[in-house]
Amino acid sequence: MKKYEDIKTAICPKCGHEYTGRPALSRADNKTMICPDCGIHEALENIGVGKEEQNEILEIIHRSMREKDK
Ligand SMILES: [Zn+2]
Repeated sequence: MKKYEDIKTAICPKCGHEYTGRPALSRADNKTMICPDCGIHEALENIGVGKEEQNEILEIIHRSMREKDK
């Protein structure tokens, strides 16, 4: 099991936002590292989820992540 202790800030080439934490591998070309949010977007798009629904799902994920931090 590899641990991701080396957390740096990076700029996501997909959305242009700064992010920290473990990046996601873009499904578009399988080599670009994108932010976790874009990774979720791509995964949802891949299974045919619409843009609005993607945002709703992301909001739910963010909410539950914040609750875990408490
Ligand atoms: Zn992004």
